Amino acid sequence: MKTIFDTGGSGGIGVSLPGLDVPKTEELPEKFSREKEGRIGLPELSEGMVMRHFVSLSSLNYHLEKGIYPLGSCTMKYNPKLHENLARLPGLTALHPLLPDDQVRGTLELMHHLGELLCEITGFRGVSLQPAAGAQGEFCGIMLIKSYHEHRGEFHRNEVLMPDSAHGTNPATATLADCVVVGVESNEYGLVDPEDLKRKVGPNTAAFMLTNPNTLGLFESHIGEITSIVHDAGGLNYMDGANMNALLGIARPGDMGFDVCHLNLHKTFSSPHGGGGPGSGPVACSAELAGFLPDPVVVMKDDGGYALRKKDGSFGRLLAFHGNIGVLYRAYAYILTMGARGLREVSEAALVNANYLRALLSEYYDNPFDHGPCMHEFVLSGDRQARLGVKTLDIAKRLLDYGVHAPTIYFPQIVHEALMIEPTETEDRAELDRFASAMISIAGEAEEKPHLLKDAPVNTPVLRLDEVRAVKELCVVEPLNEGSVGE
Ligand SMILES: *Cc1c(COP(=O)(O)O)cnc(C)c1O
Repeated sequence: MKTIFDTGGSGGIGVSLPGLDVPKTEELPEKFSREKEGRIGLPELSEGMVMRHFVSLSSLNYHLEKGIYPLGSCTMKYNPKLHENLARLPGLTALHPLLPDDQVRGTLELMHHLGELLCEITGFRGVSLQPAAGAQGEFCGIMLIKSYHEHRGEFHRNEVLMPDSAHGTNPATATLADCVVVGVESNEYGLVDPEDLKRKVGPNTAAFMLTNPNTLGLFESHIGEITSIVHDAGGLNYMDGANMNALLGIARPGDMGFDVCHLNLHKTFSSPHGGGGPGSGPVACSAELAGFLPDPVVVMKDDGGYALRKKDGSFGRLLAFHGNIGVLYRAYAYILTMGARGLREVSEAALVNANYLRALLSEYYDNPFDHGPCMHEFVLSGDRQARLGVKTLDIAKRLLDYGVHAPTIYFPQIVHEALMIEPTETEDRAELDRFASAMISIAGEAEEKPHLLKDAPVNTPVLRLDEVRAVKELCVVEPLNEGSVGE
C-alpha cells in the first residue's frame, strides 16, 4: 500500500516557525551533514497530510476501540479515557525523578496510598511499586524469597517449583534469579496435583510459584492444602497475580497462604498495553518479607509528610528511579473511581462473560477441562478441527477476516492446539455474541471448505505474514495483497 510518505511529499511544511530574532550563525559545515545537500531524505509534508497518514495507519490496525480483543492471559480491557486525562496533568508529567521529596509531596502521597490500596486488595502488608512489568515483579518477588532464606542462613534453597501450566515468564524468572526450575504436574482437572507437589518439595525448596486462577482459567481449589505443603517444607509461596482480574474483592492471595505476589497494573488496573508499552508490576508481600523490598520505599513521616527511604535489609534497586509512574497514576484513578464494590463487580462481570462465551462455544470446539465453571478465561482445543487438517493458527487467522482479534493460541502448552480466550468485563453481550458467531462460522468452514482457512486472512491490509520475518523486518506499509511479506 502506498502511503503519503512514498508519494512525493516534497516541499510541504507542517510548522510555522517565528522569524529569526537572534544573529544568524554559520551554516553547519558540510562534513557534519549526513547527506550531500544537507538533507536526510525525510518526507516534507503539511500538517494535514501528516494527520491523514497516521489516521489511515490507525484504521488499518486492530485495537480495542474497534472491537473485542480476547487475548487470553493479557486482560485486554477497555481503559477509560478519564485516566489518560489525569495521567497527563501537567503537574504530574512535568515532575523530574530527582526532585527532593518535599517538592513531590502529592506524588509521594499518591504512591503511598496506592500501595495501601494494593495491600488491601491482596491481603498483604508491604509493597513496592517499582517493577516495570509483571516479569520484573516476579523477579522482585523471587529475590525477596531468596533474601528471606539467606537471612535465615539457608543458602542452599534454590529450587523454584511451578506447575506445567505456568506462564513462560515464571521459569525465566527463576532461572534469572539463579534458581533451578522443578516442574509439578497438573491432574486431569487441570489443577496442581497435591500428591506430585508432596513428592517434589524438600529441603532445597525456595518457593512454589503459582498463577491463580491458573493459565487454564481454573481456580486452584486445593489452594490451602497446596500452600501448607510448601510451608511445611520450609518454602514460601509466590502467586503470579497477573490474573487478579478474576479475584478483585472476592479472594485475596494473602488469605490463601501466599507470601508474596505481583499484580499487573497494566492488565487488571487499566492501562493501555501491548506492543511493549510501559507496564507496572508492583509486588505485595507479607510483613516478614517487607524488610527486603527494593529501595527506596515511600514511608509516612512523623509530621504526616512522605519520603523515599532506603531500608537496611533491602536487596537493592530494581530500576534507576521509582517505577512507571504514569501507569501508577492510571491505576490509582481506576481504583478510586471503581471503589471496593465496583472492583468486585469488575471481577464478577469478567467471570460471567467468560462463562457465557464458553457455553456458546462448547458445542463447536473441544473443551478439555469442562468439570466446572471457569474463572475470567478458558482454554479450548482446536483438536477436532486439526483432524480435518485445519490448525489453530488457521482459525486465528480466519478470525481476522471476520473483523475480530484472535485469542491467544498454543498456550498453555499442556493443551493441544490451545485457544485461550479472555473476553474481559468491558465487552457487552452483543460483542460476545459477535465473537461467538465468528468462531461458530469458522467451525463450520473447517468442515465444509477448509481451504478458506488455509488462505486466511484475505480481507486484511496485509495477508498471512511470515511471523518470524514480520517481527524482525517491521514494515507497516508493505504493498497490499502482493504477498511480498507473505509466505
Ligand atoms: C502477562 C503475564 C505475565 C507477565 O507480565 P508482563 O507485564 O508481560 O511481564 C506473567 N504471568 C502471567 C500469568 C501473565 O498473564
